[in-house]
Amino acid sequence: MKTWKLWENEKINKEEASLLRRHADEIPVPFDEEGRRDVETLVDTFVGRDDAAGLAAPQIGISKQIVVFRNGNFTDKAPIKKGDGNYDVLVNPRITQIRGDMEKTQEACLSCPDISADVVRATSIKVKAYNEKGEKINKRYTGFLARVVQHELDHLDGKLIVDRGTTIYFPKEKSLFFDKIFKDE
Ligand SMILES: [Zn+2]
Repeated sequence: MKTWKLWENEKINKEEASLLRRHADEIPVPFDEEGRRDVETLVDTFVGRDDAAGLAAPQIGISKQIVVFRNGNFTDKAPIKKGDGNYDVLVNPRITQIRGDMEKTQEACLSCPDISADVVRATSIKVKAYNEKGEKINKRYTGFLARVVQHELDHLDGKLIVDRGTTIYFPKEKSLFFDKIFKDE
């Protein structure tokens, strides 16, 4: 399944951008047929990839509140397998607590090709959500994993690193295109 992007090959994707910018809809709980299918589609799209720490449903064109992400092992990006326990699925997630220091690190996003951005995030969060089976869960995430979760949850709010970034980096040879985008904002 293709990844939806704000732009591609120095052209703005108006339609994809408008879905990526939407506030995603909640999944009814207990999950109905459609909810179950959407969760499965996102997980199936994510497993086997080695180019992403996480993926949010809007990034594959499904404007629903579902995210999936690696729950460790970020350096060796060996593809994860379905059901291997190396990823978490969060449905209708809410951050219920933010603790610890804020930290600034460079992030990239499959939906914002060619750029990276310095983003300030909390280093410890607690999240209330449903897992892929529709069971209520409460989890604490810390360190880099907390950052990944906040990045994915932002997607459900229609927020991307270009909105959060304090500094945005892009290759010089594409500055004609990106200078124009980031000046307009
Ligand atoms: Zn992203």
